[in-house]
Amino acid sequence: MNKWLKVGGGGLLAAVAVLAVVVLGRTWATPKPVVDAAVGGYVPLTFDEAAAVERFAGAVRLSTVSMGDAPPSTMDLDALHSYLSQQFPQVHATLQVEQVGHGALLFTWKGKESTVAPIILMAHQDTVPVDSNTRDRWTRDPWSGAVADGVVWGRGALDDKASLVSTLEAAEQLLKQGFQPRRTIYFAFGSDEERGGAQGAVAIVDLLKERGVHAQFVLDEGGAYTNGLMPGVAGDLAMVGIAEKGYMSVRLSVQANGGHSSQPLPQSAIGILSQAMVRLEANQSPGHLEPTTAAMLDTLAPLLPFPARMAVRNRWLLGSVLIDQLSKTPAGNAMMRTTTAETTFSAGIKDNVLPTVANATVNFRILPGDTVASVLEHVRKVVADPRVDITPGEEQNEPSPTSPLDGEGLALVRRTIQQVAPGVPVVPYLVTGATDASHYVPVSTEQLRFVPYHFTPVTIERFHGINEGVSVSDYLNCVQFAAQFMRNAAG
Ligand SMILES: [Zn+2]
Repeated sequence: MNKWLKVGGGGLLAAVAVLAVVVLGRTWATPKPVVDAAVGGYVPLTFDEAAAVERFAGAVRLSTVSMGDAPPSTMDLDALHSYLSQQFPQVHATLQVEQVGHGALLFTWKGKESTVAPIILMAHQDTVPVDSNTRDRWTRDPWSGAVADGVVWGRGALDDKASLVSTLEAAEQLLKQGFQPRRTIYFAFGSDEERGGAQGAVAIVDLLKERGVHAQFVLDEGGAYTNGLMPGVAGDLAMVGIAEKGYMSVRLSVQANGGHSSQPLPQSAIGILSQAMVRLEANQSPGHLEPTTAAMLDTLAPLLPFPARMAVRNRWLLGSVLIDQLSKTPAGNAMMRTTTAETTFSAGIKDNVLPTVANATVNFRILPGDTVASVLEHVRKVVADPRVDITPGEEQNEPSPTSPLDGEGLALVRRTIQQVAPGVPVVPYLVTGATDASHYVPVSTEQLRFVPYHFTPVTIERFHGINEGVSVSDYLNCVQFAAQFMRNAAG
């Protein structure tokens, strides 16, 4: 061994030793405590719980389905509105109630002080349909609103009627106690969230803009307590959505001359389109840790097993390992990159006829940092075939802005969680689905997403799924949370 090698080897060893000290030092020096301390000042509401649950179940019995591109019918929405006005008479007598757009509801609870920015509590009235292929797998009628085994069963119970009805229940109870908000509280209940919100949430936002309303924050669905959904972390976590991915579908289309299948060209419309689809799946958007997910990992770090904590605390060195590891599950992957989901594919009419056209759709959920334009650019570059026509769909949402980690709204959500669920860590996170909250960016400073449901790997399957239902205890949690949140924000 010559001298240079010896010196080089020694230097390398020293460098590795220094690196190990830094990496382990950062891992062990992970700040504690992660568990938020209990905060006083919480007196639960007392009310007739069985009657409240029955009022909620009644709303589940009323079908308000957004079907494909159609919002619920006016008749269905009217029936829900008159039911709500019967069940919550004080709210309807005291608050201003307006129908906006296609049956969306805007309640205005005027505050004593007009100088404090108002707040907006959101929910949506519509539900997804019940897939007729799975109808026989429902244990009960999807619109039974049955209260059994500690659960209120039915389509829309979880998404999103528990949130909507509990907000009104909380307000009704607070009114009975003589509560008067300091700042104005709006309840904004969209009517077509499940098809994008164009005739519901967007109509309310337009009206608020027209009136010059700018809220401190909106609080919508999109976050919850989870248990067992974060690999390696035990116990409840309060996941609060502070940002949301964008949305775009792209239609790929190939035209061909067709003709008889006895004399085909080397490639058919189907072959050309298939090649483009394979390329798109093989060339996913690059992964990166955007700021919301980085904030989530920092909050979780003290709870993670040693190797994961080491990677999180040493992202400067192990960032790409972390991204690779997190990308291994669909949920983790969705937080790491703009996802590519090939969702429709159709071509051909008969076994001996060459197709004249082949069509497919690819749905992208856009990570903050990417844009509708950058995704479209990526598709063109990857497909790289002039025979494939690429057309973006009409519904295009850029990723939402990220609400500030030190915002007033997040502080209020955090405080309320600490009061009603002491000891549960509050974790900011990126919502990978789509909610109505993103429409409210022009009329609010913060957009937050949290409903106090408890999700486990089993109960989360009920979301948009078979045997949808919300536990009675979670419904009552929703009422208590909404009341305490209003007292904290506007008391
Ligand atoms: Zn929803």
